Amino acid sequence: MDIVIIGGGLAGYQTAKEIRRTDRHVRLLLISSDSADFYSKPMLSNALASKKTPESLVIKKAHEMAAELDIEILPHSPVEAIFPEKKEISLGNRSIGYSKLVLALGADPIRLPVEGEVLSVNDLSDYARFREALAGKKRVALLGAGLVGCEFANDLLAGGFDVDVFDIASQPLGRLVPAECGEWIRANLKGVNWHFGANAMRFENGMLHLSDGNALPFDVVLSAAGLKPRTGLAMNAGMACGRGIMVDRFLETSSRDVYAIGDCMEIEGLVQPFVMPIMHASKALASNLLGNRVALRFPAMPVVVKTPLSPTVVSPPRPGSKGAWHAEAEEGGVKSVFLDEGGKILGFCLCGKYVSEKNSLSRALPDLL
Ligand SMILES: Cc1cc2nc3c(=O)[nH]c(=O)nc-3n(C[C@H](O)[C@H](O)[C@H](O)COP(=O)(O)OP(=O)(O)OC[C@H]3O[C@@H](n4cnc5c(N)ncnc54)[C@H](O)[C@@H]3O)c2cc1C
Repeated sequence: MDIVIIGGGLAGYQTAKEIRRTDRHVRLLLISSDSADFYSKPMLSNALASKKTPESLVIKKAHEMAAELDIEILPHSPVEAIFPEKKEISLGNRSIGYSKLVLALGADPIRLPVEGEVLSVNDLSDYARFREALAGKKRVALLGAGLVGCEFANDLLAGGFDVDVFDIASQPLGRLVPAECGEWIRANLKGVNWHFGANAMRFENGMLHLSDGNALPFDVVLSAAGLKPRTGLAMNAGMACGRGIMVDRFLETSSRDVYAIGDCMEIEGLVQPFVMPIMHASKALASNLLGNRVALRFPAMPVVVKTPLSPTVVSPPRPGSKGAWHAEAEEGGVKSVFLDEGGKILGFCLCGKYVSEKNSLSRALPDLL
């Protein structure tokens, strides 16, 4: 096979689409451990209130994608090993050769050390389990007040559930936004019972036990504690991995002719588990796979937080940037910009009425990469 892509998520499919924009003939095989049905993963955290079923989130079935892109697809086929020196991958019962290999493996939810049945939602089957668990239930505990945790909180509230959010941090979106914006989000997600500085230990007999000795009753506990890039396959094959599978500016891993993209990838210390980085990276990757070397560039890529109760857009500065947040607040919103010592803007968080400034402020930001 000419190009083999492992992963049937956005990164895998977007790479195939970009290849087909310029080349209709190269032979493409996409292999996925799941159904490889194409769906919009960001919808998982705002689908409950609108009563979306897992089936209705599917945009196109795998066989429709295969026909549209003129590619071969192997669904329900976990790849077990990569042998870069032989240019082969193993599916257990069979081996497949490749000229170029793309790892679009995604990321796993971080499992908190909480005993008992704690759910997480990172794909369609998780979403199906979550919906089943919620049927006829009322009280939901969410572990994690990050971006996805806040989105689920908003969606659950809109769906009529009682929502408590627990986080060891002292504010929502603690790793992304300054205190003023965190406070605005907290105040505007009205109806959420927040528990900051709280550490959940165990969910047992309908009670969530905290490290301070308190226990509260819940029907369902959902963890939204972040993601961990899937590096196992690459590490076992000897590829360099940090937090993610490390690639150079041409998206190539430390193994020749093996590339990585999407939530599993790390580039120059950056792991960017969002849609826009995939849209940019897939263009550069397709060129490189087809022999035209293009270095990846990331512009600033603000993320719109899907919390209609507390509209927020965030473009955090590159980790480790020197500078400080400067906030201004008025009735109806908060705006905070991250400025370096020379007064240059490196990031922002816009809440409420200030979200309308997203495009103008984005233009002022430096490239991320
Ligand atoms: C609830 C939620 C809400 C989100 N909201 C937003 C948002 O609002 N905005 C935004 O920009 N981003 C959002 N994101 C992030 C965004 O959805 C992801 O960055 C993106 O979908 C990741 O795509 P991916 O293809 O890299 O990974 P995935 O979609 O996880 O795909 C990985 C694929 O690899 C396959 N795979 C893994 N291992 C193997 C193996 N060994 N063999 C074969 N196949 C394998 C899997 O089956 C899967 O098909 C959200 C994420 C979540 C979970």
